[in-house]
Amino acid sequence: MSQLDNQPATMPPITLPSGRLLLDGELVEPRGAGRMIDALDPATGNKIMSFPACRREDVDRAVGAAHRCFESKTWQGMRPLDRGRLLENLALLVEKHRDELAALESLDSGKLLFVTRAIDLQFTIDGLRYFAGWASKITGEYVTHNPLMPEDAVYRAYTQRRPIGVIGGITPWNFPIGQAIQKIAPAIAFGCTVVLKPSEESSLTTLRLGELIAEAGFPAGAVNIVTGYGAEAGAALVDHPLVRKIAFTGSTATGQSILAASAKTMKRVTLELGGKSPTIILADADLDRAIPGAAAAIFSNSGQICTAGSRLLVEDAIYDAVLEGVAKIADGLQLGSPFDMATQIGPLISMRQRDKVSGLVDAGVAEGAQVIAGGVAGNGAGWHYRPTVLADVTPGMTVMREEIFGPVVCATRITDRAQIVPLANDTPFGLAASIWTRNLDHAHLLAERIEAGTVWLNTHNVLDLAMPFGGTKMSGLGREFGTEAVHAFTEPKAVCMRLEGVHDFG
Ligand code: NAD
Repeated sequence: MSQLDNQPATMPPITLPSGRLLLDGELVEPRGAGRMIDALDPATGNKIMSFPACRREDVDRAVGAAHRCFESKTWQGMRPLDRGRLLENLALLVEKHRDELAALESLDSGKLLFVTRAIDLQFTIDGLRYFAGWASKITGEYVTHNPLMPEDAVYRAYTQRRPIGVIGGITPWNFPIGQAIQKIAPAIAFGCTVVLKPSEESSLTTLRLGELIAEAGFPAGAVNIVTGYGAEAGAALVDHPLVRKIAFTGSTATGQSILAASAKTMKRVTLELGGKSPTIILADADLDRAIPGAAAAIFSNSGQICTAGSRLLVEDAIYDAVLEGVAKIADGLQLGSPFDMATQIGPLISMRQRDKVSGLVDAGVAEGAQVIAGGVAGNGAGWHYRPTVLADVTPGMTVMREEIFGPVVCATRITDRAQIVPLANDTPFGLAASIWTRNLDHAHLLAERIEAGTVWLNTHNVLDLAMPFGGTKMSGLGREFGTEAVHAFTEPKAVCMRLEGVHDFG
């Protein structure tokens, strides 16, 4: 660990991670040392530090350690309450280092400091405690009667939920420490062991988390952290025969390649992928809530949220008022450093991502969309992009079909209510949606018809660890959180017994 050199005055104290991997309970250097990845500050483009680009042999070591731990008497014999206690220990350590972790996350990912403090770190701590509680709540079923069982004896059967085994967790860059916990905490709670690979774009808080895990008393190998590129370290995890499941969050394209590669070893997979979620505003909506709600749905975290409300579908009678209101908010948002409390829009994660956003906006304009706010990159050194509102966007346009993952909303006028459901569902994605209306009947009827893993009514982007989360269609496979997490990290086993001596008791 070291303090950051030349730290600007507005930045709270930041402890950088050592850059070592967590393998078999130790913080170690990678084997084929020398190849490093530079962590860049998205707000300035400056190098923060570098960390290892692990090769297949480091991933093999990590998986070997996770497998040995999983098979060990210590792990197999550990009381569920004690697995929960490990997560609670880690929650206490994260809580103790909360401000430092929040600042590191903001530095590495460009997320606003008040957001990483209030949301990312809170989610991380809550996630650890939520799953700590689950560890001791795993039950099976008792099967009392089965007409297919032979009649010559008495049979009884029950089911158990068994941990799947070694989990390979792979995470994206938009919610780094929260996503790491989203994979690690349920894996441990449900009795699995885990190897986690964070995104090469934002690995620092996961590396720092590894240092806290090393302090928290986990058995060696229960949690391992390797860093590196997706095509190398990520692919090695997906290919490894001892990894029984991949818990992935990231883009749909990567999810597809992971699904295909997993077939070779018949791995279980959960895929939390991209989105193109509609924000639907009906004419009877409370516009004082709907307009800021629609703006927050897309501009929060500079649009780098999988559930961002990136398609704005608005009924004709209020279309102009809504667009004017959202554009006014967009124009008023202040771009700047994540450490400046006046900043409302931080940078995008990389220059590549900003170029992608900018290219898609240009494509939209070329295809006939009207820019009514933004449409340009920020002026400063950071990789900012101005919050952008595109009007008159039609379903066939590239901006309407592709996930932009930036602060860009595409608005479409609804002239006939019968268009709402087909338009909302006219996307390969199906992650989330929000409906803004004062009419309860319309809210619930529409919610049933929208193809999405989550539908919000008069709100957007509200996650809860107790609500199942995941996508339909190209937005993913399986669910995380809530009772669904049990299914994601365990497999049922049926145990059937034949009882002899049934006639002995009369
Ligand atoms: P990405 O797919 O480029 O990368 C995600 C992770 O996959 C990274 O760790 C990367 O190194 C790894 N990876 C890349 N290629 C791989 C391969 N061939 N094999 C194994 N691993 C590989 O995604 P990103 O750009 O980091 O994140 C943004 C995307 O994530 C967006 O599409 C967003 O919608 C999605 N996302 C989804 C959710 C959700 O819960 N549904 C949440 C956050 C982000």
